[in-house]
Amino acid sequence: MSNPTTGTLVAEHFDVLIVGAGISGIGGAYHLQQRCPTKSFVLLETKETFGGTWAQHTYPGIRSDSDLYTFGYSFKPWTGPPIAAAGEILTYLNEVIDENDLRRHIRYQHTIVGADWSSAAKHWVLDVERSDTGEMLRFTCGFLWMCAGYYRHSEGYTPDWPGIDQYLGRIVHPQTWPNDLDYMGKRVLVIGSGATAATIIPAMADDCEQITMLQRSPTYFYPRPNSDELADTLRELEIPDQWVHEIMRRKILREGHIVHQLSAEHPDLVINELLTAARGYLGDDFDIDTHFRPSYRPWTQRIAVVPDGDLFKGIRSGKVDVVTDQIDTFTEKGVKLVSGTELEADIIVTATGFNLNALGDAEMTLDGQPIDYADSVTYRGIMFSGIPNMSSVFGYLRTSWTMRADLISGFVCRLLNHMDELGVTVCTPTIAEADDDMERKPYIPPDEFNPGYMIRGRDLMPKQGPHAPWAATNDYYLEKDEIPAIDLDEPELQYR
Ligand SMILES: Cc1cc2nc3c(=O)[nH]c(=O)nc-3n(C[C@H](O)[C@H](O)[C@H](O)COP(=O)(O)OP(=O)(O)OC[C@H]3O[C@@H](n4cnc5c(N)ncnc54)[C@H](O)[C@@H]3O)c2cc1C
Repeated sequence: MSNPTTGTLVAEHFDVLIVGAGISGIGGAYHLQQRCPTKSFVLLETKETFGGTWAQHTYPGIRSDSDLYTFGYSFKPWTGPPIAAAGEILTYLNEVIDENDLRRHIRYQHTIVGADWSSAAKHWVLDVERSDTGEMLRFTCGFLWMCAGYYRHSEGYTPDWPGIDQYLGRIVHPQTWPNDLDYMGKRVLVIGSGATAATIIPAMADDCEQITMLQRSPTYFYPRPNSDELADTLRELEIPDQWVHEIMRRKILREGHIVHQLSAEHPDLVINELLTAARGYLGDDFDIDTHFRPSYRPWTQRIAVVPDGDLFKGIRSGKVDVVTDQIDTFTEKGVKLVSGTELEADIIVTATGFNLNALGDAEMTLDGQPIDYADSVTYRGIMFSGIPNMSSVFGYLRTSWTMRADLISGFVCRLLNHMDELGVTVCTPTIAEADDDMERKPYIPPDEFNPGYMIRGRDLMPKQGPHAPWAATNDYYLEKDEIPAIDLDEPELQYR
């Protein structure tokens, strides 16, 4: 809004401004309202609706690959099957918004394009574009809580394959799935073999003439029923939903911990278990080693769940082909592989991943000077050295994302209340002189977790140090105790 006399932008001020109405932002708003009830806040979101990832992705079969007991919030019981369709996740989030009267705090079609920290005014000044009107707005806030996710929603990642322009069929990326795509009776080639490909392929298989999964290298898949005996029994016993939710969270987290430890210490055991499960569906005559035995250690990339073995059942039925090879070039009719094989297709789906982004692609400055986010060191994976009053949510990679978003919410609310008690308005994570020369490591070390989007985008991410509070373990089993116990008076948190 601008002042009609001066023409300058009139800013609206909030104590806290949350960016992004995905599962992290909605969770943040819930916790803020509960734990800091006197703080004014607004949640700004680019899209026309809430849900983030779950609103953006509309490809056939779109679903979670985590269970919703842990991907859902601690405070709202999940009552459906463990793996949920996007529509079910959106319904759950809609209920959270309604039950907690959050809708009045959310403004859609508001994109943060720039954020400048003013040391003099001790607040952030945000340039916000309304995508419906093109109008530029100004907001100011005491604390900036970035819940903008980790990848650019507007466009997925498609490699620059030779000859791609020659192809006469239709190319689609799952992230921007066209509503009008008719694949009935068509030959479809899906390039990629991550969780997205494993979801799309069984969902489309019955309608296509043939569907082929073309992968450069294999992925680990974990076939499991989309139900849980313990949850079913507890429900039969009419145990209250909140209890079932909490018991299931504990069970799943405990099982997850065992699997993560085994993957690190005895990877062969885990590999054997996964491949035996695949063989159970595919049969002894299937070439598992070529198509389903990756070269990497389990959990250095996410293991995709295959509910009820649907992908494997499709392969066994003959409706789904798997080809493990590399693309030499696109042709008019499909692709030619390095082995010389040609695959023809009417539609090519490029399930080739994301483009990582940072801080919602907003231009960040400090008193007008560009902030080099990638050069900052993360304070416990929550805040950043030298950047006042800002946190950003980056969730877990091996445990459900939301488990970390919830822990961060707890920290931010505790910090805001602590600042009120101290009578201060600014908190800047600051590296002590003694740590000036500490080793700077990648935020996500490639030897621990290395999917393509992380490797391509690593230069966008902040660094981490070798020890607390500058290390980012991305380990739920450590952080569940560490984050709630952070000493808010530790010297690295500088207040004024
Ligand atoms: C297909 C798919 C399946 C996944 N499945 C799982 C799973 O099962 N388990 C799991 O743990 N993780 C999963 N993930 C990762 C998943 O993205 C996160 O777990 C989670 O949904 C992220 O939530 P978020 O709110 O942090 O970010 P997002 O869902 O990415 O939401 C961020 C929101 O911020 C908005 N935004 C961004 N920049 C700006 C800006 N400058 N101004 C205003 N608004 C902005 C975006 O429009 C978006 O709505 C999956 C990811 C994908 C793509």
